[in-house]
Amino acid sequence: MRKQIAAANWKMNLTYPQAENLLTDVLNANADLKENQQVVFAVPSPYLTMTNGLLAQKDNYFTAAQNCFNKKSGAYTGEISAEMLHSLDIEFCVIGHSERREYFGEDGKMLAEKIDLCLEFDITPIFCCGEPLPIREANTQNDYVETQLKESLFHLTADQLDNIVIAYEPIWAIGTGKTATTGQAQEMHAFLRYTLANQYGANVADLISILYGGSVKAGNAKELFSCADVDGGLVGGASLIAADFIQIIHSLK
Ligand code: PEP
Repeated sequence: MRKQIAAANWKMNLTYPQAENLLTDVLNANADLKENQQVVFAVPSPYLTMTNGLLAQKDNYFTAAQNCFNKKSGAYTGEISAEMLHSLDIEFCVIGHSERREYFGEDGKMLAEKIDLCLEFDITPIFCCGEPLPIREANTQNDYVETQLKESLFHLTADQLDNIVIAYEPIWAIGTGKTATTGQAQEMHAFLRYTLANQYGANVADLISILYGGSVKAGNAKELFSCADVDGGLVGGASLIAADFIQIIHSLK
């Protein structure tokens, strides 16, 4: 059975006390998670240990890093390695968020290297893909996103792919308040699964969780998550408000 995941992406927000309060509020809501449901918090690096400590009391809650470097170790001042994350018992890492692609020049090859390092250290990558507005307007989003998968994932074996979560995040919907319609989301998620099935077989593709990201809110999560191929969401802005994120967790199927 595919995992249904509500993943918070805090980005570079919240002070340490604010982060502790937010986590405590979400945990105190005691969402009754089903066995196939997971909640993931992608937090700023300085908060990883605190977050993991608080979440340890609960089943099905996990901490994620927002990024890691594409080298194993060495003279890379300021960077964080997959091995370091593993040594902190971090089990997820967001890879290839569009903000990293845009502001830090991360390309498909670099992301493939990051994915390999995550897998080497038992970290589940949450691999982000998604098209910018001009590509959507030209109706070439399928080719664009297929290329992103090919560049960063298709070197993996089927067994390795089994440990990947994909987040489809149309860039025009991130932080803009503009959400993909359920039709647009389902169409792209079905295309992603079809593309994975062509490469790895339907059995493998059917088990991959594909999250939707892009202005998921308390008010639209249920409808988006109800789409057959949408297995939850990667949530930015709305994950910073406890009540909203709790409602998003309750919207998982
Ligand atoms: C994100 O950061 O991945 C995201 C989807 O942000 P938002 O929900 O704010 O659009």
